[in-house]
Amino acid sequence: MALTLLNAAAPIKTPLQQPPTEVKSYALVFIALTACARQQRPVMLPPVQMEAPTGDTSTYKRPNAVFNTQRDDPFATMNRIDWPGPSRYRSASGVPGPDYWQQRADYTIEASLDTGTTELRGAVQIRYTNNSPDTLRYVWLQVDQNLYRTGSKGSALFPADSRWGVRGFEGGYTFSEVRVNGVSVQPRINDTMMRLDLSTPLPPHGGKATISVRYAFKVPEHGSDRMGRDSALYEIAQWYPRMAVYDDVRGWNTDPYLGQGEFYLEYGDYDYSVTVPAGYVVAGSGVLQNPDEVLSSEQRRRLATASHSTEVVPIITQAEAAVAKTQLKAGTKTWHFRAQNVHDVAWAGAPDFRWDATSWNGILTQAYYEFPRAGKAWEQAAEQTQWTVRQYSQLFFPYPWPQATSVAGPVGGMEYPMFVMVGYGTDDPASIFGTINHEHGHEWFPMIVGSNERRYAWMDEGFNTYLNAFATEARYSGQSAYPGYLRNWADAVTRGTQSPLMTAPDDIDPSALGAIGYRKPALVLLTLRNHVVGSDLFDTGFRDYIRSWAFKHPTPGDFFRSIENSTGEDLSWFWRSFFYGIDVLDIGIDSVSTHTTDGQPFATIALHRFTSIPFPVRLRVAYADGTTQDFSFPVNIWARGTRFDAMIPARGKITGVRLWPHPSVPDWNPSNDTWGTPPTANPPGPVTRK
Ligand SMILES: [Zn+2]
Repeated sequence: MALTLLNAAAPIKTPLQQPPTEVKSYALVFIALTACARQQRPVMLPPVQMEAPTGDTSTYKRPNAVFNTQRDDPFATMNRIDWPGPSRYRSASGVPGPDYWQQRADYTIEASLDTGTTELRGAVQIRYTNNSPDTLRYVWLQVDQNLYRTGSKGSALFPADSRWGVRGFEGGYTFSEVRVNGVSVQPRINDTMMRLDLSTPLPPHGGKATISVRYAFKVPEHGSDRMGRDSALYEIAQWYPRMAVYDDVRGWNTDPYLGQGEFYLEYGDYDYSVTVPAGYVVAGSGVLQNPDEVLSSEQRRRLATASHSTEVVPIITQAEAAVAKTQLKAGTKTWHFRAQNVHDVAWAGAPDFRWDATSWNGILTQAYYEFPRAGKAWEQAAEQTQWTVRQYSQLFFPYPWPQATSVAGPVGGMEYPMFVMVGYGTDDPASIFGTINHEHGHEWFPMIVGSNERRYAWMDEGFNTYLNAFATEARYSGQSAYPGYLRNWADAVTRGTQSPLMTAPDDIDPSALGAIGYRKPALVLLTLRNHVVGSDLFDTGFRDYIRSWAFKHPTPGDFFRSIENSTGEDLSWFWRSFFYGIDVLDIGIDSVSTHTTDGQPFATIALHRFTSIPFPVRLRVAYADGTTQDFSFPVNIWARGTRFDAMIPARGKITGVRLWPHPSVPDWNPSNDTWGTPPTANPPGPVTRK
């Protein structure tokens, strides 16, 4: 899903009010570090933009240090920690282990949409394979439409009029028949989860069961911004009972659907048919199986052209859509799709879609929109979809499916395999690009890499927002993703609405979801890449992680282990600082002094760490002759305390010093980052270059 950036001009860089608390010096390590400073060549990073501090800077509230309060201690909050020890299932190096397993769910769905009663009726058959080493005596399914049952947990938790609220809609699933292997079962429903007891236990290592359910639900107008309808347009998702994930980490993942938390589903193949009024055009996940029955010969011909063209081809023109809207047809038509190796399917239908298509590398990229309900920007949506698929394929992992679809509608931004819902936008192409780019970015997380979105927003929205920085900077030359991401995080810090990134999405303050779920994780990953391990190793490691876990279920620990192994760095301090805590980075320069040893001049730069967060230090020194010199110190300098005297071999008389010559280090307090007449920092610029 998408969140728009907050534009609040929050103070980013504000002085800390608390005085230094610890004074220690480590004179004995000077000699060792002198050697270190001499040998170490600073890594030169691309220039980045960091906005100048604005507004009132006196209101900064210092967040509590990590683990200093119960709120910050992950062991003491509601959040579970899932960084288990390595096993045969999950290796210490962060890749799937030799005995890694996951369940499989293959679906056949037949559904019909009654636009008169706004009801969807369906029959789903799920062929479930138990690849686990455990015998299963019951299974759990997600029945998300029950969010709209009166008294649901989600309707109580999120205000009715909020984005995730139910808006007073009363609906939910009705089940008319539930069978396992042909035997009728009485389901036991717990909010949005349904337990089915198996009369015959499901054996391990490949045991199979067939679950069939007949169901119906009323389509909400506002489906908590993940589905819904607008007049004759229907955007349909969470529309059939879906298998909950059974994994080696938690067994059955039964966290309910509350609103903010998204989904965690099993991979399989889908065969689905939707019957709609005859005049409707249906867009959906997967590949249309019966074009001869539902498309005109002219539409099929245009589609064939688009599938070999990188130019946008109208499949249904504006004039044709306008005619279709006024000439409603009697009867129904059934649209049949298949999707392979996905964990969900969704679709949309309307009588008056315009439909554009183009392709890249054999992948059909499509846009469906009602015009002029959708802005003129949508005439570029097929190209924006194509560009996005190409960009992420080339940067991170090849897009693995035959098509990618964008649909305009009332849902602001929501992702499903091969299919995304995006708001109507305006005439400005930029009004939809960010959302199209973001939603299709989700094809990498969580569609290719099947993380548990319901527990870890950062592995879904955060990773995706990290990808989006690359796309934004590539599409709009000169732009930097950094200032917006930092501003959003800073806003949550200032308001005191932060929670650790490990917080389950439904437990994040709704006003801070954009910061904690999306932009802080994206920004700290950029920080890790650019200022800790370097872009070369991080980019390789991140691609390795995607490849290792494509179509699988990684946990946070798998990601942490994977990055540590591939970059060769112990990053415990980084995960603890930025993923498990809410503290911010603030390192400063206390003083600079010089002395001479054996005729050689040295400078001692007294560094001071004001928060719990350590960080590798980079310094730029200005000399009286107008030259500058950069020095690097590893994060290990902070292992023994909050002060460190960095000794450097001085080339001449020092006139000034600056911390962070590359200004995209998220140091919260710039007032203590310089000494004397500091040298200039690198100019701002993109943060995603090599
Ligand atoms: Zn999203």
